[in-house]
Amino acid sequence: MALDIKNLKYEPVIGLEAHVELCTRTKMFCGCRLSFGEDKNIYTCPVCLGHPGSLPVINRKAVQYAIKIALALNCKIQDYTIFHRKNYFYPDMPKNYQISQYDLPLGVKGHLDVDMGDYTRRVGITRVHMEEDTGKLLHTGTTGRISESEASIVDFNRAGTPLIEVVTEPDIRSPEEAREYMIALRNLILFLDVSNCSMEEGSLRCDANVSVRKKGKEKIGTKTEIKNLNSFKFLQKGLEYEVERQIKLLESGSKVIQQTRHYDSKTAITKVLRSKEEAHDYRYFPEPDLVPIYMESKMVEDIKKTIPELPATKAKRFEKQYGLSIYDSNFLSNDRDLADYFEKCCSCYGNAKNIANWMMGDFSALLNKEKITIKESRVTPENLCRMLEIIDGGKINSKMAKSVFEEMFAAGKDPGKIIEERGLEQIADKSMLEAVIEEVLRDNPGPVEQFRQGKEKALSFLIGKVMAKTKGKANPRMVNEIITKKLS
Ligand code: ADP
Ligand code: MG
Ligand code: ZN
Repeated sequence: MALDIKNLKYEPVIGLEAHVELCTRTKMFCGCRLSFGEDKNIYTCPVCLGHPGSLPVINRKAVQYAIKIALALNCKIQDYTIFHRKNYFYPDMPKNYQISQYDLPLGVKGHLDVDMGDYTRRVGITRVHMEEDTGKLLHTGTTGRISESEASIVDFNRAGTPLIEVVTEPDIRSPEEAREYMIALRNLILFLDVSNCSMEEGSLRCDANVSVRKKGKEKIGTKTEIKNLNSFKFLQKGLEYEVERQIKLLESGSKVIQQTRHYDSKTAITKVLRSKEEAHDYRYFPEPDLVPIYMESKMVEDIKKTIPELPATKAKRFEKQYGLSIYDSNFLSNDRDLADYFEKCCSCYGNAKNIANWMMGDFSALLNKEKITIKESRVTPENLCRMLEIIDGGKINSKMAKSVFEEMFAAGKDPGKIIEERGLEQIADKSMLEAVIEEVLRDNPGPVEQFRQGKEKALSFLIGKVMAKTKGKANPRMVNEIITKKLS
């Protein structure tokens, strides 16, 4: 059960740190390719393996992508930015420091508006900065857990992958808002074509900082940071657990201790990883092997021009241009592929509301069931429009359309062909329907009498009989009309 925020005496205060792997062709500071689950340690070189004397070079494309993200998040792009070394030891990081940004991040002071249905939460973006990813530790054994493994091996393919960190202000007020923020961030970045943003594959990751305070109080409480939240669901669940834990602590008269905690999805609880005293001192200092970056306004302007229409603007346009409700517009414009599909349909069929209803109803249900995206589906916009035209023309009723659509979805077929093959055409021929109805009325004198005495139920019974006799192909509206006329 979700946390009942409205009835709490406390208010959660949440700030998120998201990491986004960019989908450039090569790594952040060397020419090695990015890898996708291929053999281990095949995309490495002296730079990303941290060999002494090797020199990094900044990936221009990665900087452009980072600027694109910062601009889309309404950030101010700083005129001048540099890289720092963040020093710590871990076996997945051969240099023993990560090249990151510190006091001069690339973008600052932005915001992202998160639609919560009945209100909008504006989440401030503190900073957007560039850094590099680490390698990956793989623990041997069947469970993949470090505690149950005899050895750990390291794969450096990921080391040096361009990474963007997006840090929010502590503006988020519930675990649900946190989840919606991450979904909105993901959707936004997907529009920019700079990352595939998959939480499952780890190209989008998130740490959550959370504290609670008595409702109405200004003063912010002591926070904890939760790591290992690798799905939208776990992000929400981990935060819900943590909010409740903190409230219980405060209610019992104790204090929240500033800690980093680990979310265990198996038990759905958070456990201490380290407390503030054990926190790293990273000894940040400017990276001496890299040049500073001066952001020319012309370059920033050129990048701005490559940003497509973003979800919020698109939703407003859908509302105006196609007369859709806010809800429908938001639904269709949040996902780039859905939005493109919708507009393709609108260019070949006139009733946008009809298109929206099908896309948000039966179509979405089937996509969810098969766990595929609209791009992977076999229903082309042309075929969906064709089906809507056929329904409008009265050839098939909406019940038949449902089953026709299922076959279109499964087999990628033309709806006209399916209707022909299955002999599905709706009977809308008046004389044919009258003949069937005469028969039904003759065979069911009881219900006919009941209807004459004013029993509405008898009408549904008779319509049902006609539908059965025509194998569901009769036009129900016409059947209703003819029976009512005949018996009145
Ligand atoms: P740290 O130095 O621990 O990394 P930062 O000040 O860099 O902390 O903030 C990291 C994240 O934590 C940001 O998203 C920020 O909004 C959030 N944050 C900071 N203080 C709090 C707090 N008291 N409660 C909730 N979130 C917080
Ligand atoms: Mg931090
Ligand atoms: Zn390399």
